[in-house]
Amino acid sequence: MADATPALEIRNLHKRYGDLEVLKGISLTARDGDVISILGSSGSGKSTFLRCINLLENPHQGQILVAGEELKLKAGRHGELVAADGKQINRLRSEIGFVFQNFNLWPHMTVLDNIIEAPRRVLKQSKAEATEVAEALLAKVGIADKRHAYPNQLSGGQQQRAAIARTLAMQPKVILFDEPTSALDPEMVQEVLNVIRALAEEGRTMLLVTHEMGFARQVSTEVVFLHQGLVEEQGSPEKVFDHPNSARCKQFMSSNH
Ligand code: ADP
Ligand code: MG
Repeated sequence: MADATPALEIRNLHKRYGDLEVLKGISLTARDGDVISILGSSGSGKSTFLRCINLLENPHQGQILVAGEELKLKAGRHGELVAADGKQINRLRSEIGFVFQNFNLWPHMTVLDNIIEAPRRVLKQSKAEATEVAEALLAKVGIADKRHAYPNQLSGGQQQRAAIARTLAMQPKVILFDEPTSALDPEMVQEVLNVIRALAEEGRTMLLVTHEMGFARQVSTEVVFLHQGLVEEQGSPEKVFDHPNSARCKQFMSSNH
């Protein structure tokens, strides 16, 4: 339905570090099942944008709505916006999955414990229930046999798949991926992209920062190109990859193919 409440809506997001204005008013709407790839040169603000969505970074202006619920913000000490309601931000954070470039698994916990920790603590699942879900997710991402391994006993690709399983265990409404394959050896990129592709095919709502252009083109319902803190080009993969209006976007596409 065209008028259904978006899974995620960002309005006019601004962020600066000191005098450096990184985001100058970014708006973006993700409807259920949208896979939105965010492209842009290094330093264009892609990570900052994703991190502002769940307040890993504090924006200076803007609104964030998750399934129609606006994140309550108030002025912080240095002109930035901070969460106004601790309970709300904790709940919304659990609804917004985040997959990092460097996996961020807890090194002192087994893969299984990494996955069941938040569902037990935040969703109040029993150990048995969380374990059952975790094992199903590990099978889904193809590392069921690694459940008792520690992160440093896994390849990078396996660690990232474990991190994705950990995110899925929280039943997020939206998943944000920040260059999920850029820390991987080339031979492991595909196994992680295959998991993300399967999630896209299931109709998961996702924002994906990636340099994997071919993949972005295949899985995205929409592509956004950031440049100097603004959305420079936005539209279907066909439009942004093949017929961009912006000369900068054109140049970026041709140098990254
Ligand atoms: P991208 O992910 O597109 O490569 P980032 O969002 O990481 O870009 O960074 C955007 C800009 O903000 C860059 O110029 C970067 O140096 C700067 N930046 C990012 N994080 C910080 C920080 N914590 N403090 C100061 N500057 C930062
Ligand atoms: Mg980045």
